[in-house]
Amino acid sequence: MESVFIKEKNGIRNFFRMLWRAKLPYAGIVLYVAVSFGLTKVGISTTEYTAKMFAGYVDFTTIVMPFLAVTVVSLVVGEISQVINGICKATIDRNMRRTVWEKTVRLPYGYYSSDNPKELISRITTDSQQVSSLVMQVFVGGITGAYSVIMTLKKIGSYDNKLMLALLVVLPINVGIAIIVGKMQFGIGDIVNRKRAALTEQIAESAENMLLIKSVGTQMEEYEKGFGRAKVLYNKTVLNSWITSISAPAYTVSGMIQFMMIVLVGRSFYSQGAISLAEWVAYFAFANTISNYLSGYCGDWQTFKSVQGATNRISKLLLEEEEDCESGEVFVGLEGDIKFTKVSFDYDELEIFKDLSFEIPQGKITAIIGPSGSGKTTILNLLERFYVVKSGDITIGKTNISILKLKDYRKALGYVTQETTMFTGTLRENLQRDGKYSEGEMLEACEAVGLSHLVKEDPKGLDMFISEGGMNLSGGQRQRIAIAAILLKKPKYILLDEATSAVDILGKDRIFNKLKANLKGSTIVMVAHDRQSIEKADNIIVLQDGKISGTGSLSELKKSNSFVKELMEDTE
Ligand code: ADP
Ligand code: MG
Repeated sequence: MESVFIKEKNGIRNFFRMLWRAKLPYAGIVLYVAVSFGLTKVGISTTEYTAKMFAGYVDFTTIVMPFLAVTVVSLVVGEISQVINGICKATIDRNMRRTVWEKTVRLPYGYYSSDNPKELISRITTDSQQVSSLVMQVFVGGITGAYSVIMTLKKIGSYDNKLMLALLVVLPINVGIAIIVGKMQFGIGDIVNRKRAALTEQIAESAENMLLIKSVGTQMEEYEKGFGRAKVLYNKTVLNSWITSISAPAYTVSGMIQFMMIVLVGRSFYSQGAISLAEWVAYFAFANTISNYLSGYCGDWQTFKSVQGATNRISKLLLEEEEDCESGEVFVGLEGDIKFTKVSFDYDELEIFKDLSFEIPQGKITAIIGPSGSGKTTILNLLERFYVVKSGDITIGKTNISILKLKDYRKALGYVTQETTMFTGTLRENLQRDGKYSEGEMLEACEAVGLSHLVKEDPKGLDMFISEGGMNLSGGQRQRIAIAAILLKKPKYILLDEATSAVDILGKDRIFNKLKANLKGSTIVMVAHDRQSIEKADNIIVLQDGKISGTGSLSELKKSNSFVKELMEDTE
């Protein structure tokens, strides 16, 4: 049992907690177990009637008719149980996916930036499915299988107790061989799967970074990496073929040994007169049934082991702390200056800010400038509450932002992130991400950011197609769209992270003029590098290595701050 849950702390508890959260279809499972139990009884009757016919009893009303009846019943009940099983599995899959997906959307942003978000895809598509195999095949199948074995053994015991014991002694031989061969097969199968995944991973990463690869000219290195993994996969696949070819005869031989054992035991009981001819035939059929069940258990054990990775990954994911968007103080609107007071913040071990304090005046444009990696984006992420501060306070007016209902708070902000991405769809959909606007309003916003040319040129206008991540647009166009969305939303507090870095000089001028004109009274916090943007700011904060090295107007800082001095000289 332990190995399924590796050696993780509380593994078993977390596993059952995961099942509990996903809400198993308990009623369906109970029904399935009940129907399977019934099926076992019908199956035993069918075998007994068959055996009687083998022994020469062919009376129509007492043997043949009941035989036909139980056969039909067992067929029908068998199909019903399969359907119930299928529905239970599908329900578990659906519930697991819902649970994992819900968790995924509730995770804080920090989770995505530290873990590989693409990994989450397989959590939902494949890993979730493993859980239903585990529950229906291993747990529930284990129970119904055990019931069949016990009932069948009991039946044999009713013929002769010693016969049952003799059977119990010889059965493990075949099972032992099946375990050894199965283990080998499972092991190599698992290796092949992992090598295939490694190949996919390599190809996916190379394909994604093709632009970079081509620009540095390392295509052939990438080819070698990809082909290297294909070669490893080839070797393991060949090995798998060998092992499979050995295992088939091994199974046959062990099956023959099993057959001989069963026959020898039954035959000796029959010739001594301990059991009748019909019982001897029935015993033979029952013994094979039990042997099949036991070999089946070995397969279940392998399923049990192969899903351990998947279930561990899911139960770990479900333990991650969620972002609480719903609780907190009801929102009555934000008003006032933004104030950081002795804010400390770390990314895991990496200290970014220690006792950082500064103010951003309301209704003005404040630029945060500083070298790369100094923490500018982090300030905006803290304002957006993507991360929680270690200590200190961030307030807007008199309100500490941490007590506000997150859902409403974020709605009140407008954030254009450093890497602007788009949803696949239309320009219209991307503009209306957080609100419904009229055609006229949207066209006006496009005009304001200098996009009217693009919209007019496309025959579909606002319904122009936007490909995955906005890849069919230029970086500047993506940034303009993101700002157009802000102009439509008109938030009181606007965070722009190098939001016009890819826009040309004239475009920048136009955008800032429009922002100022259309969003009077809004507080704009912008991270910027270029002179044009910085010149637009009323107020500048210089951030160097997580510390403030100066605040004030551009003209003041040009004199007092060496970073600003250098920056303005360089670009002059
Ligand atoms: P800037 O925007 O000023 O260029 P950032 O605020 O993005 O800088 O980053 C500040 C520092 O924090 C950098 O050293 C960066 O490597 C680190 N950092 C940023 N994001 C993360 C993250 N998600 N996890 C760990 N470290 C991060
Ligand atoms: Mg940044």
